[in-house]
This record gives sequence, structure tokens and C-alpha cells, in this order.
Amino acid sequence: MPPGPDALPPLRDVVAAHGLAPRKALGQNFLFDLNLTAKIARSAGPLEDVTVFEIGPGPGGLTRALLAQNAGRVIAIERDPRCLPILEEISHAYPGRLEVVEGDALSVDLAALAGGSNAKIVANLPYNVGTQLLINWLTADPVEPFWQSMTLMFQKEVGQRIVAEAGSSHYGRLGVLAGWLTHSDILFDVPPQAFTPPPKVTSSVVQLIPKADPLRCELSKLERVTQAAFGQRRKMLRQSLKPLGGEALLMAIGIDPARRAETLSVAEFCALARAL
Ligand code: SAM
Repeated sequence: MPPGPDALPPLRDVVAAHGLAPRKALGQNFLFDLNLTAKIARSAGPLEDVTVFEIGPGPGGLTRALLAQNAGRVIAIERDPRCLPILEEISHAYPGRLEVVEGDALSVDLAALAGGSNAKIVANLPYNVGTQLLINWLTADPVEPFWQSMTLMFQKEVGQRIVAEAGSSHYGRLGVLAGWLTHSDILFDVPPQAFTPPPKVTSSVVQLIPKADPLRCELSKLERVTQAAFGQRRKMLRQSLKPLGGEALLMAIGIDPARRAETLSVAEFCALARAL
């Protein structure tokens, strides 16, 4: 008989027993509050019939919550080998439902692991690589994403950049990319004291759902336009977009060359990319 979830000891005890001192270089800020991990898992919606990817399970607080929330299959990718024996115990308590992959999530191909099944990504991300991971998943296949939703913890400031719209001071390349491909929302904030050890800043759980029919646009061209425009965000577009065609390009699609990057909607950025 497998031990069952009730046999799992409290997270703090597990961390102490395994001597898992948090490492800053790995962005290790752990969650021990069961109400909070359950809230994050619930926010991801039904998990029964999907492959749930969790990046950075650490000692497994959120992992346990996902499994308790009836996730049928969790694939957890963890870089720190010290966490593996702890995750193994969780895997025994939920036989056949948790696979642990040791490795750097930046170089793991989640789409290949999903193997065509419906996937959701749920994670309390390591902050040092969180934005890059998000960009990787967004751009893996802009037309047919391998994921149904992403429910992710970021630093609040990164969350604000993801959901930002034109006119906001947080609006930039990340907001355009996320706004092109997804509907995104900040679900709730999480204060530093909720983590062990507490980070310096507030965090936010952000949810992204792919748009059914994103505007037609080539990723590499959109990136060229947003890089040039936001690279000199205080300048007028006629100046910042000069290397790409400047005034002529803007006039061709009816955008006033005296505008600045942060006033352009996602649709206008896509139009610029198409006109390149
Ligand atoms: N999920 C746990 C929790 O909520 O308590 C831990 C979250 S902690 C913020 C981030 C986790 O990501 C750590 O366990 C860390 O070892 C892991 N990690 C850091 N960089 C990683 C990477 N490149 N690939 C996979 N895991 C990574």
C-alpha cells in the first residue's frame, strides 16, 4: 500500500529534516502556507484531465496542493537535486501522478513533454528566470500554444508589465507580446511574509489564457518593432523607428510619427510588424 497524502509530514519539518537551506541563486523563496498553495492551485481551474507543469517545485508545497486539487498528471521540473528525495516522497503518496524532471526549465521542451495532451502551467517561479521562461512559453508556438493556461507567481512589478496596456508606465515589450497572444490578469498579490525566506518585494499571481484568434503578425517582426520603439521609449516614433523605415512606415499605416511607443496599442504594433 502506498503511504497516501495524509502520511506526508508538514513542509517545515520536511525542509528541516532534509537540511534544505534556501539558496538565493536559485530564487528559493518557499511557500509553507497551505491556504495559499491551495488558493493558487484552485485558481488554475479543473486539473483532472490535463498535464500540469510545475516549474521549481522545491520542497513541494504547491505540488501537494495541485495533487490534492485532483491534478491527474503533474510534471515538475526542478533544478536543485537536494529537492529530489523530498519530491520522491510526494510521488509515493500519489502513485502514478507525479513525474519529477531534474533540470533547468530554460532548456526543457515542455511542448514535447506534453506530447499533444492539454497542458496547464502552474508555478511559483524562480524570479531570476521567470520572465525568460514566460517568453519561451509564449513564443514556443504563437499560433497553437501547447498550454491552455498559465497561472504563475512573479514579482509584482513583472506582473504589472505583463498585463499592462497602452498608456500605462508599465507597458513595454512584455505587455505587447502578452497582449498579442493572451488575455492576462493579476489574480491576487502575495506579501513578502508569505514566503520563507521573505523576498524584498510583493509578488503577484498572474493568469494568462491564449487568445482564440490572435492578430496575424510575425513574431520576429513584432520583436524588431517593439525593440526599436521601446529601446528609445521617450523619443517620437519617427526617430526610434528610423532604422526600420521611420516616418514612411508609420504614415503608410496611418500612425502619427510624433507619437511615442507607450501610446501604441497592441493592434497598432501588429500593424507595424505586418507593414515591415
Ligand atoms: N514551488 C516551491 C514553493 O512554492 O515553495 C518553490 C518555489 S521557489 C520560488 C523556485 C524554485 O525553482 C526553487 O525550488 C528552485 O530550486 C527552482 N529553480 C530555480 N531555477 C530553476 C530552473 N532554471 N529550472 C527549474 N527549477 C529552478
